[in-house]
Amino acid sequence: MDLALQGKVALVTGGATGIGAGISEYLAMEKVHVAVNYIVDEPQVIEFSERISKENGVSCIPVYADVSKPEDNDAMVKKILDTFGRIDILVNNAGIWPTEDMKDMPDEHWMRVININLNGPYLLSKRVVNSMIERNVKGVIINMSSKSGFQCNTGGHGHYTTAKAGLNMMTRSLAREISSYGIRVVGIAPGMVRTPINEDKWKHDGLMDDYIKRIPVGRFAEPIEIGYLAAFLASDKACNITGTTLDSTGGMLI
Ligand code: NAD
Repeated sequence: MDLALQGKVALVTGGATGIGAGISEYLAMEKVHVAVNYIVDEPQVIEFSERISKENGVSCIPVYADVSKPEDNDAMVKKILDTFGRIDILVNNAGIWPTEDMKDMPDEHWMRVININLNGPYLLSKRVVNSMIERNVKGVIINMSSKSGFQCNTGGHGHYTTAKAGLNMMTRSLAREISSYGIRVVGIAPGMVRTPINEDKWKHDGLMDDYIKRIPVGRFAEPIEIGYLAAFLASDKACNITGTTLDSTGGMLI
């Protein structure tokens, strides 16, 4: 299928590791210029951006920002607009997944997860949506949710599940508000994808088997598979899809 994404400009938060890297790389393969957001490991992000640019004949640039900080998001959006003149696709992918019970955690831990996983996508979506409206860009916002936004069958993730469930509702609310500008807002809910966030699970003998028993398709997903879905959702082929969060869990939500 020709997704006709050539020449578009995307911003992918947490775009150089795990699922974000799968999305950045596949969008580059579809000839999209990608602003690869990061907060740590700058040399690795520079190397990654240069490699996917070279391999695919596009221009991918590293862009620093802590997505939970308004001023960082302002500076990042400005840098991308100064470089490319527009943002067509925003993927709010950055996130953290700590484990601790709500009754025991320090207040700051709760705030940190909500700030990065929920307030970050709000702060950045607002800025990017306004840039789209000003430039008459019929863009797409993609929010990285989770199976955990629908279900809480693992302990110690109250802050995370609350943030992801909130993100699902933000996807719906924002889609309702901005559909008339031709901008779509969609979510993706992965189940278990093999990335650094859960490597203690898939690198730990025995635990992997335990998780796989709960995945009907019988395996962890690979990051690039989420990239395929993100590229489809970002394309006009998905023009009738907005306000929903797609189940990409390999059946875990059945
Ligand atoms: P990951 O740890 O590789 O990716 C998270 C990225 O977010 C990292 O690059 C990290 O540096 C970045 N990040 C963290 N805090 C940030 C901040 N304040 N500002 C900017 N960037 C920040 O793990 P991943 O699995 O690729 O996670 C990507 C997204 O997918 C997350 O939102 C996660 O909740 C979601 N998700 C992952 C899985 C899975 O099985 N891996 C399942 C469901 C949902």
